[in-house]
Amino acid sequence: MIMTPVTGADAGRFGPFGGRYVPETLIPALDDLAAGWSQVSTDPAFQARLASLLRTYVGRPTPLHRTRRLVGPDAARIYLKREDLCHTGSHKLNNALGQALLARELGRDRLIAETGAGQHGVASATAAALLGMPCRVYMGSADMARQRLNVVRMELLGAEVVPVETGSRTLKEATNQAIREWMSSYRDTHYLIGSAVGPHPYPTIVRSLQSVIGTEARAQVLEAEGRLPDGLVACVGGGSNAIGLFSAFIDDHDVALTGVEAGGAGLEPGRHAASISRGRPGVLHGAASYLLQDGDGQIMGTHSLAAGLDYPGVGPEHSWLHDVGRASYLSVGDDAARAAFAALSLREGIIPALESAHAVAHAMEWAGRLGPESVLVVCLSGRGDKDVDSVPGGTT
Ligand SMILES: *Cc1c(COP(=O)(O)O)cnc(C)c1O
Repeated sequence: MIMTPVTGADAGRFGPFGGRYVPETLIPALDDLAAGWSQVSTDPAFQARLASLLRTYVGRPTPLHRTRRLVGPDAARIYLKREDLCHTGSHKLNNALGQALLARELGRDRLIAETGAGQHGVASATAAALLGMPCRVYMGSADMARQRLNVVRMELLGAEVVPVETGSRTLKEATNQAIREWMSSYRDTHYLIGSAVGPHPYPTIVRSLQSVIGTEARAQVLEAEGRLPDGLVACVGGGSNAIGLFSAFIDDHDVALTGVEAGGAGLEPGRHAASISRGRPGVLHGAASYLLQDGDGQIMGTHSLAAGLDYPGVGPEHSWLHDVGRASYLSVGDDAARAAFAALSLREGIIPALESAHAVAHAMEWAGRLGPESVLVVCLSGRGDKDVDSVPGGTT
């Protein structure tokens, strides 16, 4: 895997994006984390331990599956990178496990995390149980009511789930609460951030831990096709599965990188979560990036059928890849995601997470415009069991 040490002209900056917009008290904790990460990045024992757990516990390498019936014979071949087959059902454990191991290395034996839909909370609670660490997860009380199953999973795994009652009682407030706690607990506690967001060095650490997706996919598509794909497609919430897939192909300029944001119920303010497509640069949760904000800089409400994409910000590296034109970002709405969820289930026998269904929807449309000689790789970031109540034919 690519274990990039923290480097760059101005570490933690992606052009004008990224950086550290945090209270002074957290700077030593972030410095510690960056130094610890640089050290384990080049430590063969750490890398061997992580690689071994990824293989025997997470279930890596995940397969690259060539779809057979998803699109017609005149369309491009679509390959799915099967992150849905990871333990706990999504790519999130790649990151949670790596950060938990790093925390141990730094002598921080307790974990805190924030979660929206609960997928990152479950991944964090899982890593904590495996390594014998106490774990507290902050979760908006509105999200706890909507995502009961994941609350039960976290509790079964031994985590303490703390309801957050402020504001909209969802992910944004849960993140504020986790940051607030960390300001007083960082000496013995690691804050396990769940996506490629937050202050430096988090976006770099998360990208590196998720780069295993792209490294595997690149080798697998070369083996299957004897060449690189024409394009990659991944959904973008905070952007961790997308940057993990893209990272291995950034220097392959003939490979088009495409991030799919949540178009929600329409592109009017408040009805979507298309942070890059419809947002403006600003600062949220410790970093500069594209954000959905109103004229006064207030963060706007968001909507997506897919809880994992329902966030008003995005990782700073994606903002930069957008600005320099290396990756393109577009949005897919709730209805198209529902249709792709059904299509992949019926035609391929794979029930995808609604988040991943956004990427599948765009890939199907794009494959139709490309010829049959073209090849696309899609990150199937998670499985859809959690979503059966949100789609027609589900239990409600
Ligand atoms: C959390 C989640 C996402 C969105 O997070 P990223 O950091 O953008 O990858 C996408 N898919 C699934 C299945 C998720 O659980």
